[in-house]
Amino acid sequence: MKALYFTGDSIVDLVETDKPSPGKGEVVLQMKASGVCGSDLKNLRLSKAEKPAFADLKVPGHEPVGIVSELGEGVTNVSVGDRVMMHHYTGCLQCSMCLIGYTQMCMVHHEVYGSTAHGGHQEFMLVPAYTCIPMPDELDFAAAAACSCGTGTAFHAVKRIEPTGLDTVAIFGQGPVGLSATMFAAQMGARVIAVDISPYRLRLAEKLGADEVIDSSNVNVEEAIREITRGQGADSTLDATGIPEVRIQAVESAKYWGKVCFVGEGNTTTFDVSSQIIHKQLTILGSWTFSQAGLAEVAKFVVERNSPMDKLITHKYDLDGAQQAYEKFVSGETGKVILEI
Ligand SMILES: [Zn+2]
Ligand SMILES: [Zn+2]
Repeated sequence: MKALYFTGDSIVDLVETDKPSPGKGEVVLQMKASGVCGSDLKNLRLSKAEKPAFADLKVPGHEPVGIVSELGEGVTNVSVGDRVMMHHYTGCLQCSMCLIGYTQMCMVHHEVYGSTAHGGHQEFMLVPAYTCIPMPDELDFAAAAACSCGTGTAFHAVKRIEPTGLDTVAIFGQGPVGLSATMFAAQMGARVIAVDISPYRLRLAEKLGADEVIDSSNVNVEEAIREITRGQGADSTLDATGIPEVRIQAVESAKYWGKVCFVGEGNTTTFDVSSQIIHKQLTILGSWTFSQAGLAEVAKFVVERNSPMDKLITHKYDLDGAQQAYEKFVSGETGKVILEI
């Protein structure tokens, strides 16, 4: 079977490997779709010198979706032929975080598929049976892959700010996570202001339900948001960039008593806590991915509310086209990019 590896210097190599066989409590998935995510890029861009020996490389791809093709001993929660999304973490299954389905927050030990264990960019994938979340029949594989990381992350971040039809929500960064957040906040009834520096992505944000778009490369974002909100600022803001200056804009653009949700990862950001946060009575939230039940929840919402996933997913490639897929994604002229297998 074929498996994909990042072998260094942004090279994507397709390698012939052995098909895995399931041990106790494991299943083999025949992969159908695997998402391309911004969080892959650090690993993709490592130089060949920084990469470990090939034997220690892991197959990337942490948005895996497939059909159960083989069951290991003792597996009862899924059957051969089931269409499933994989919640891409292991955990001890006994600590308080595992018990609420947040295995990625396991207080003992966890593996991350696509990073510390072989991920979804391959034809067959070995996974623990408990990580398999059944897909609604109406959901296609590409949309399910998006739900399994970026789109699911956006859904649960938007839920944290509890938008209503009375609210204006400003979403900073319109990559796949920010675009998904724009789509969901609009579907949950909010007036959405989408902020980015890419005209391509701002046009896409409009198609996904943004009421207003701001190209932050040529205007003062806080002033633009205050203008749209009659001087008040946004009820809630969400940062999907992780860029320190943008996080500060997200805080500065929130109204008094507003909420700010941080989703974009990395970097260190300095705030004047008194003037920027305390004296504005802000609620600051951090939101990191979602639980096993949370994955089922976003898939259900997408199906029931007919979320426009076909607009969000702008590019699909097969495994042979993966190099092109990453190059296109890096160019910034995409929405969500999916590998179909
Ligand atoms: Zn991801
Ligand atoms: Zn645990």
